[in-house]
Amino acid sequence: MTKLAVYAVSADNSRGRVMHEAPPTGRSDFQRDRDRIIHSSAFRRLEYKTQVFVNHVGDLFRTRLTHSLEVAQIGRSIARNLHLNEDLVETISLAHDLGHTPFGHAGQNALNHCMRDYGGFEHNLQSLRVVDVLEERYAAFNGLNLCYETREGILKHIAKKNVEKLGELGIRFVQNKSPSLEAQLANFSDEIAYNNHDVDDGLRSGLITLDQLQEVSIFSRHLLQVKRKYPAIAERRMVYETIRGMINTLVTDLIQQSIINVENAHVDSLVAVHESPPLIGFSEKIKKEQQQLKSFLYNNLYRHFRVVRMNNKASHIIERLFTAFSSEIRLLPTEYQKKFEHEGHQVIADYIAGMTDRYAIKEYQRLFTIAEN
Ligand code: MG
Repeated sequence: MTKLAVYAVSADNSRGRVMHEAPPTGRSDFQRDRDRIIHSSAFRRLEYKTQVFVNHVGDLFRTRLTHSLEVAQIGRSIARNLHLNEDLVETISLAHDLGHTPFGHAGQNALNHCMRDYGGFEHNLQSLRVVDVLEERYAAFNGLNLCYETREGILKHIAKKNVEKLGELGIRFVQNKSPSLEAQLANFSDEIAYNNHDVDDGLRSGLITLDQLQEVSIFSRHLLQVKRKYPAIAERRMVYETIRGMINTLVTDLIQQSIINVENAHVDSLVAVHESPPLIGFSEKIKKEQQQLKSFLYNNLYRHFRVVRMNNKASHIIERLFTAFSSEIRLLPTEYQKKFEHEGHQVIADYIAGMTDRYAIKEYQRLFTIAEN
């Protein structure tokens, strides 16, 4: 790791862990957090959870696992350039989707609807719940006992009604303070990763076309550069080169603009970062282009009838599972039944949110198909 900026998160200014532990040897506290995340079962399940495309429809599409790895890669490169804590950015990136339900946003919306009388369901909050409570691996504590700064980064947004449950971690939302630059960066790396890989997966699936993408300025100008330089290359390579160019432009712009923002805000410590408005960000031009790409993907990919059709099935599965478990608790695995006595419907949400796409489909068949057991 290169020398850290004075406003980066470091071992010296970290608020540490809830349960005190001796510092690790041979690795930093944030590397230890990363290692705990990689060894968690929630992390392994990301391999079988949908990003946009349902997990089993094609071997080349992103899953939540490969998405998280791309976020970590982009985050690390930018962090190094900005002299931020690379280990922390990597850790937050790998953990940021741990609380996602099966079937992507359709699953999350359906579960949130099912939980409307019991406090709702938010995937950011659930990611935190996974690392704070649900992982049962260590003798001395529940969860992974991660550093404050890792947990702060995982909790990107939260509904106001849930702020009070969170104690120290919720205060910044009440006081309107910014999270660390590392947390801000992980969030942008997420956006850079999904906008670009959704273009790639969208084209590969045939749900969007190169022709349609002409209207998206960041795509068309990079495509033009590739065509000029390599007029005869095959389409697949042309797409990859275009996406490579887009990622490079976004990463470079984010680095340059963030340096300017940090300089203008005169931040000289981590405390000053919390007091300042968010400082990691794109230039105005790139922000507009990113917005245009996002709306394009929303209108043409995320709302494509084949995606909507799958999402509809996904909501149906989640809702029926939830209804079955709530009306007959004994359908839940024994350990969840015991927890239900103390924690109520949150336990059903935990069980469903923890499922992979294929596990949810299998459970649906076990519950509703006569021949299944
Ligand atoms: Mg993500």
